[in-house]
Amino acid sequence: MSESIGTTCVQGGYRPGDGDPRQIPIYQSTTWKFDSSEHMGRLFDLEEAGYFYTRLSNPTNDFVAAKIAELEGGTAGMLTSSGQAANFFAVFNIAGCGDHVVASSAIYGGTYNLFAVTMKRMGVEFTFVAPDCTNEELEAAFRPNTKAVFGETIANPALTVLDIERFAAAAHAHGVPLIVDNTFPTPVNCRPIEWGADIVTHSTTKYMDGHGASVGGCIVDAGRFDWFAHADKFPGLTTPDESYHGVVYAERFGLGGAFITKATAQLMRDFGCSQSPQSAFLINMGLESLHLRMAQHNKNGLALAQHLAAHPKVAWVRYPGLPGDTQFELARKYLPGGASGVVSFGVAGGRAAAEAFMASLKLAQIATHVADARTCVLHPANATHRQMNDDELAAAGITPDLVRLSCGIEATEDLVADVDQALAAV
Ligand SMILES: *Cc1c(COP(=O)(O)O)cnc(C)c1O
Repeated sequence: MSESIGTTCVQGGYRPGDGDPRQIPIYQSTTWKFDSSEHMGRLFDLEEAGYFYTRLSNPTNDFVAAKIAELEGGTAGMLTSSGQAANFFAVFNIAGCGDHVVASSAIYGGTYNLFAVTMKRMGVEFTFVAPDCTNEELEAAFRPNTKAVFGETIANPALTVLDIERFAAAAHAHGVPLIVDNTFPTPVNCRPIEWGADIVTHSTTKYMDGHGASVGGCIVDAGRFDWFAHADKFPGLTTPDESYHGVVYAERFGLGGAFITKATAQLMRDFGCSQSPQSAFLINMGLESLHLRMAQHNKNGLALAQHLAAHPKVAWVRYPGLPGDTQFELARKYLPGGASGVVSFGVAGGRAAAEAFMASLKLAQIATHVADARTCVLHPANATHRQMNDDELAAAGITPDLVRLSCGIEATEDLVADVDQALAAV
């Protein structure tokens, strides 16, 4: 569709017919009624599209997933109960026991733990590479049993920018798809599929919901990866699924539908990480204003980064959209519209100065959350990473002075004034 992204934010996914409800209906029903078991049987056999049980799929969720798929330029999407579930499903759908995945080392801590600890226990091995590794280092990470490459467009919390084209080229040279977690930019700031990504994931908990109201996730398939061209690597998509009467997903549902249908039919059926239709409705309310909110998050992020960089009580600033930042060239390429609202910086004077700064803020609220309409702030050395001493923090790339500021959509001048009065108190 040639409409602009803001129009898709408002009207995508659900297009009511004559006399239909204007707003997305919430299908608050666990189950569906049929006139015959034979009809229900056709749905169970995936011979006919439809709904029978909300653990697998629900129309409210599908309207919202379709909107996110349109926003990302993909062919199919599914909602999950959380961003964690989205990343787990995206990887586990094609990599199981005995398989291997190459992942960027600059990823969300929860995703790192999922990969390095929990999925390792399930028999999936991960090799982590720095997002700015050389092409030789990236090449050396692949193994014959590699099934996917994974990275984050803007890493949480490192704020590095993934060179999507470079990682996609390496993945495709090895016959595997690139999975990109696009939570921080949202499709308003970056559409990874346009740069070669095959699967895009989201924690909708962040900017998409935007109001700190509901936890959720989403997976979108670009519908481009040719599973049959690498059939030996992806038997789950190219050979019969005995748990569904021998359906071959890539054959029956085509390149555009195979990945999401398999994830729904097998992973939702067996793990059940489904989104509640009530929460899907709330996510859609957030999506309707995503393009307007992202513009203000981008504006506030850049303004605060610039203001902090010029402040004598600030030791350093990290924001991909800030000229001079190590990530600026990548941000110019992949995030031309803006680099979102998250800024990290060091308060001159170290841990005690950062504590004094945090204690003096009035508008910015202390929370572990990011990417919310309300500005929030976190001092990792005193919160998420408080068990670590200064040496351990340094090894994790977190300095004791580091403050992560997630700029909301309040008036820019009020945020600048709040930061100024808190720095004055240091
Ligand atoms: C928060 C986050 C996740 C996990 O999402 P939940 O909705 O909290 O499960 C995954 N990836 C990124 C980049 C995130 O910021």
